[in-house]
Amino acid sequence: MTAILPGATIGFLGGGQLGRMAAMAARSLGYDVRVLDPDPACPARAVATRTITAAFDDVGAAEELARECDVLTLEIEQIAAAGLDAAARYAPVRPGRAAVYVVQDRARQKDWLRATGFPVGPYRTVTTEAELVAAVGALGPCIAKTTTGGYDGRGQVRIARAEEAPAAWAALGGRRCVVERLLALESEVSVLVARRPGGESALFPPAFNHHDRGVLTWSMTPAPIPPALAARALELGRGIAAALDVVGLLAVEMFVVRDGDGATLLVNELAPRPHNTFHATERACETSQFEQLVRAVCDLPLGATGLVRPGAIVNLLGDLWRDGEPPPFTRALEVPGVRLHLYGKASARAGRKMGHLSALGDTAESARDAVLEAFARL
Ligand code: ADP
Ligand code: MG
Repeated sequence: MTAILPGATIGFLGGGQLGRMAAMAARSLGYDVRVLDPDPACPARAVATRTITAAFDDVGAAEELARECDVLTLEIEQIAAAGLDAAARYAPVRPGRAAVYVVQDRARQKDWLRATGFPVGPYRTVTTEAELVAAVGALGPCIAKTTTGGYDGRGQVRIARAEEAPAAWAALGGRRCVVERLLALESEVSVLVARRPGGESALFPPAFNHHDRGVLTWSMTPAPIPPALAARALELGRGIAAALDVVGLLAVEMFVVRDGDGATLLVNELAPRPHNTFHATERACETSQFEQLVRAVCDLPLGATGLVRPGAIVNLLGDLWRDGEPPPFTRALEVPGVRLHLYGKASARAGRKMGHLSALGDTAESARDAVLEAFARL
């Protein structure tokens, strides 16, 4: 493998906040940046030399981007296989089509995890209302998740009893679903693996994540969990990234559930890209997840992932914008050490990720308390 050196051009399929922050890291390292996104006002546009406005299934546009780039990466897994194939004729696409194919369909992803020997909770895939009713009967209280297109808790419905299944089926638009047993979660953690073309990998310390109605609210690093559990989480992450032959980043969301006297881990879902739960790495770790992505896809030596200091982030959702007016950021910034990260999104909608606050602390919990204190002022 030959390194793609600074001065070369990196193409991003997807120009949302993840693409934007990764593009800024690429710029810092001296790369040129080009982006493809359906939104002409996408966050990464401000950082890119050129932004192609096109749908993710626009094969011609993916090819056009690839012709101008030395390597392509992605910030969203819903890129059509045909587009990835077309792009790959002109530049390496990292992570590649095989890993993206497994991840981009929830049912395929879960089946792959189970078949490859990674632990997942009980689930069934259903394609009809009758199958959904039967699945709820068999699994008990559960969550139905559409197999494609869902994120931030969207495309999901909780179902307590079989009688609720027909309404849930309708609410999900009558689409193919993964039906998971509703688990009693002790907590949620995630790991992030960076992997180079030759297979060398590096992992960040696990993050501890708090969700509200399916959306990440805050995250802290390192996860305050027993060392043996953290080691197991890292082992699972490394194993999954290797089995999928990921080049770039792979985030693995996990559930911590009770198992007799101890706790055990179940894999929730995979993301072959930077991840919201690792935004704190920009400050808490020696290398940020965004720089690490650039290093991995360009086949540069991976950065050190050690902790500099515990850190935390809290998400700023569009709900904080009232009548289009931003919240009073200056009040949050009065909290010592708190930093503001905004994604440059023109319009705020409920549930839309607009930015985040970050802080460091002597412990992950004290960093978390600082971001939550700042958040409470907004
Ligand atoms: P998304 O793609 O929207 O992030 P997830 O599958 O990660 O979808 O679900 C979002 C959140 O919903 C999870 O982080 C967790 O808090 C909760 N959740 C999802 N599945 C389950 C489950 N089987 N049992 C309990 N909680 C769940
Ligand atoms: Mg998730």
